[in-house]
Amino acid sequence: ISTKSLPYRMPIHTQLGKVPLGIQRKGLRIVVTGGAGFVGSHLVDRLIARGDSVIVVDNFFTGRKENVMHHFGNPRFELIRHDVVEPLLLEVDQIYHLACPASPVHYKFNPVKTIKTNVVGTLNMLGLAKRVGARFLLTSTSEVYGDPLQHPQKETYWGNVNPIGVRSCYDEGKRTAETLTMDYHRGAGVEVRIARIFNTYGPRMCLDDGRVVSNFVAQALRKEPLTVYGDGKQTRSFQYVSDLVEGLMRLMEGEHVGPFNLGNPGEFTMLELAKVVQDTIDPDAKIEYRPNTEDDPHKRKPDISRAKDLLGWEPKVDLRKGLPLMVSDFRQRIFGDHKEGAT
Ligand code: NAD
Ligand code: UDP
Ligand code: UDP
Repeated sequence: ISTKSLPYRMPIHTQLGKVPLGIQRKGLRIVVTGGAGFVGSHLVDRLIARGDSVIVVDNFFTGRKENVMHHFGNPRFELIRHDVVEPLLLEVDQIYHLACPASPVHYKFNPVKTIKTNVVGTLNMLGLAKRVGARFLLTSTSEVYGDPLQHPQKETYWGNVNPIGVRSCYDEGKRTAETLTMDYHRGAGVEVRIARIFNTYGPRMCLDDGRVVSNFVAQALRKEPLTVYGDGKQTRSFQYVSDLVEGLMRLMEGEHVGPFNLGNPGEFTMLELAKVVQDTIDPDAKIEYRPNTEDDPHKRKPDISRAKDLLGWEPKVDLRKGLPLMVSDFRQRIFGDHKEGAT
């Protein structure tokens, strides 16, 4: 599709001049790519509740209509089945670009597709942002730090990434997406924001996506052993999804490009996580050790001082508070016997 001759529609925030975004709030037109996925669907809920018009663009690779079905029939909600690797013409004020599988099992399923999504998909959404003057937010990842040699990780750290490994389609893909974002910002004046998201969990995660929190929770509920990869001493920091969504929205509305780490600094080994899952669901759940995957980062913990200082953001929900909220959703989806207040 040639986009060169299309009419340019002035974004609302430009039409209104320099009015701060928080004040001219009502009625923004917002695209959320990947909006039928886990994080995207929670973001869509908040944007719709705030009064914005939301267009979800999703190819349903890992997303599900069920995640956004409750908005069907709302005139401020639209859902487009579209692959971001193909060009897309829309008139909007803001673009939250989330489209990309996030679980290692999903992104390794078709690595070439993953890198195309990250590179060509991001290029297309930046081209769209440039054409209509929209503000663009990229959801990058803590994986850009690779197997980090700095701990905790600050945004100034350049990372330790294997460019030819099995995770490269994702981590190098996201690094290139960050590069494209900064080049459109510097070269074409596009207003951009970059978030580096650390491991996030919550309701609506795919049941069998292979990520550690969803695996352990589903396993404990099904009375299967919890599969700990390697010696279980590797660490991750787990963030509840509502904290992430709050951070993404503050970043989009704020004045700072970033990158910003968005994560919960509470660090757990996989064995400690297994213990929290046992305490929350089933103290008798067994642990089964499995060989670890290739290039698995040994530790990961965000330094969030930048987001605290510049966005006034920090997570509020710790793992022991957030896990039960996810468990009730998983219980309902696995057994269909949701009990109010049950964990
Ligand atoms: P998810 O897999 O649940 O959601 C991704 C969504 O993107 C899905 O709805 C999927 O169908 C859609 N999608 C994938 N490829 C697409 C394509 N080519 N065209 C259109 N749609 C496509 O994952 P999530 O956990 O919600 O992650 C959302 C974003 O946040 C991703 O960009 C991910 O890299 C980033 N992120 C997530 C985490 C996390 O822990 N959840 C951590 C770091 C970064
Ligand atoms: N693009 C898009 N929607 C738009 C504008 C552009 O999908 O509304 C795509 C376009 O097809 C191109 C990419 O974004 O593949 C980059 O666009 P840009 O105009 O920056 O570069 P060019 O078209 O000059 O290569
Ligand atoms: N992991 C595990 N058991 C599982 C799934 C994952 O012990 O059933 C480990 C995995 O080896 C990694 C950590 O949990 O060290 C986090 O993996 P996940 O896939 O959730 O996220 P990422 O590696 O992208 O941080």
